[in-house]
Formats: sequence, structure tokens, C-alpha cells
Amino acid sequence: MSLTRDPISLILLPTLECNAACEYCFEDKSRARLSHEQLAVIIDKICTYMVEQGIVTLAINWQGGEVMVLPPSWFEEAGSLIQEIARSHNREVEHYIQSNLIGYSREWLPVLTEMFNSSIGSSLDFPNLYRKLPGGGPEQYKAIMERRIRQVQEDSLDLGIIALPNEETFAMGAARFYDYYVKHLHLKSFQINTPFAGGTDTPAKSAYPLDNERLTAFLLELIDIWMAEGYAQGVRISPFEQLLNYFLDREQHLLCIWGENCANEFFCVDPLGNLSQCDCWAASYPAFHFGNLLEPGGLGALLTNTPARNRFLERPAALMAVEDCLDCAYLALCHGGCPVRAYTMNHDIRTKDPYCPTYKALFSRMEQVAAHLAAQGGCLPVSAP
Ligand code: SF4
Ligand code: SF4
Ligand code: SF4
Repeated sequence: MSLTRDPISLILLPTLECNAACEYCFEDKSRARLSHEQLAVIIDKICTYMVEQGIVTLAINWQGGEVMVLPPSWFEEAGSLIQEIARSHNREVEHYIQSNLIGYSREWLPVLTEMFNSSIGSSLDFPNLYRKLPGGGPEQYKAIMERRIRQVQEDSLDLGIIALPNEETFAMGAARFYDYYVKHLHLKSFQINTPFAGGTDTPAKSAYPLDNERLTAFLLELIDIWMAEGYAQGVRISPFEQLLNYFLDREQHLLCIWGENCANEFFCVDPLGNLSQCDCWAASYPAFHFGNLLEPGGLGALLTNTPARNRFLERPAALMAVEDCLDCAYLALCHGGCPVRAYTMNHDIRTKDPYCPTYKALFSRMEQVAAHLAAQGGCLPVSAP
């Protein structure tokens, strides 16, 4: 089956090198880097596939490793190259970037402004237990990151931060968590992700998956704080805001973990040209590669004829046979959750996401909040600015 969304989303890993040493990292880091010549081959094959399928827009999500180990000039040249190839196929391209910001300086401003629409995503946990620099500790990492966040804000870039909760997050409570991101870091937008033990085992990953009861209690408390203090003031917390919009029948972009089948929407290319489902699979699970875009053959054949991709395509039906998702009131929203979270926990993608109990509680609470807002007759903003 071909990709069905327009835009289609490419997660592009131009390098798996990284200047950090986070204990929960799922990447198998290497010094491999994509050359501009290789990039041209890959983008040409993707644009050819888009023409065959009638897909107009390609959304490229640049990730690593760490993207900023490459210089800004590399991205400027890459951006021009991609634009030229897309134009020759009459296709459009949007660029998004995720960086740990360790290498950020004002030199990045022109390329971030022009190629990435003045927007960037990064990550920082509260409290920070696992994000570190080589030879450094979490406090040092936090101090550098806080400086980088201030710099990015002073440079008027739109910054979104992803936070992974941990056991200490739960112990400190949702109010301190909210205050850290909104009042201390002055962020208007952040996302909470559920961590999983991808890649090689480390002591940090032995805590995953997180305890569903404690995670649920934390998230529900955070929703209450957000609704009381942040929602009407334009603070955006993902995935709460998207779920609220879903239940209010507004336009929303739900996280990929709840998509009908992420295999129809995303694909990932690593610096060696390997094609996989997403960055979570690219370096950690080579047995799940769909093939290699730098070898002869087009993208269409790799998406159609590979046993690894077929396992993703077959997952929804397989899930219904073995799990209780068919009886779930939120099946049409959740679809069994994320394959890589299921795989890291159960070593089988035909199982449901281990955070199922948390998701159910979250959906239920956001449905109640949406009903309450709808009853108030739309006195709160349709979507935060
Ligand atoms: S910044 Fe990302 S890629 Fe680098 S070590 Fe940390 S989690 Fe891994
Ligand atoms: S495997 Fe999970 S994280 Fe990766 S694209 Fe699919 S839903 Fe998203
Ligand atoms: S919430 Fe749980 S039971 Fe419901 S669809 Fe998701 S994984 Fe399946």
C-alpha cells in the first residue's frame, strides 16, 4: 500500500552523530553523514514517487543524531538543492527541524528563518535526570539548555519543547512541572511524550514503561492546571490541546502514536539511505528497515514489496485479533497506539501500546473538558495563538 496522506512526512536523519550523551537515547550513534549528492538522489526518488501518487507536498522533519553538528551552510545548500529538485517535479516542500540546541548560535538564524520558517523544536525534561553531555552531569546540561532557550527566545524564534516525564517528575508534582516550563522558561508551547526503552539497554531505560497509574495522575493534574491557568492565555500543551480540538470537532493534528496507521503517513531515511518507519526504528532496529534508497530502485517498490513494512500495514488487523481494542470506546481515536512502544515492551508490534491505560484516562478527561467548554458556548479561544 502506498502512502495515503498529502503532505507526506519524511523524517530525515542527515547524521546519527550527536554532541550529547543522554542515558535514555535510543539512537545507535555513528559518524555517518549524508552528502549533498546522496541527498539529491533520495529527494529525486521521493519526488518521482510523489508524482506517481499525485502527492503534492513533502514535509521534511530534520532530526538526528543531532542536526547542528552539521554547519548552517550545509543546510543552506541542502535547502536550495531540495527546492530545485522539487520545482523540477512541480512539488512543494515544507521543512521542520528538531535539535538539542547545544550547538545553537546566532549563525543559525538565517537558515532557521528562511528554511524553517523561524521555528525549531527541542527537548528538556523536568527534572532533568538523563540528558547529559559527554562526561557531564544533568545539571550542567540543564544550565546550558536554559541558556540556549533564552538565546532562541531573544532571537525571536518560535520554540517548542518536548518533555519526557520520569519518576521524579511525578514526585515533584504537576504544578512544579507546569511552572518550570511556563513561568521559568517562559514557553508558550510544549509537548509531553511517553518514554520507551528503545535501542540498547541502559539503567535509565529500566524505568520504562513508566507506571501508568502515576503517569495518569500526573497528566490529569496537569490538565486541571492548564485549564485553570494556561489554556485561555494561549499556552499550548500537546497532546492536551489536540485532544481537546478532536473532541470539539475542530481541526487538529494528533500525535503519530494515535494515527490510523503511521505507516501510511511517515517514513524515515537515515544517513546511509536506509528506509524505515521513523527515527525510533532507524538506528535501533535494522531488522525493520524497508530497504535502501541509495541502492537501485524507486521508493514505490520499497513501500510496496517489503516484508518489514507489511508488518506495520498488517498491525491494525492483527491487533484486533489479539487485544481488546475492539471493545474500546476510543478505538477510532487511538487505533492501538504506537508500534515502537508496543515492540520495545512486548517484542511484537501486533500488540497494543503499553501506555493504553494512561491514554484511556486522558481521552476520557479531555472528552469531559471538551463537553464542559462546549456547554460554555465557546467563550474560550478556538485555538491558542
Ligand atoms: S540529544 Fe538526542 S540523539 Fe543526542 S544523545 Fe540525546 S537523545 Fe540521543
Ligand atoms: S512507530 Fe510510533 S513514534 Fe514511530 S511513526 Fe509510528 S506511531 Fe510514531
Ligand atoms: S486506548 Fe487502549 S484499548 Fe483503546 S484503542 Fe488505545 S490501546 Fe486499544
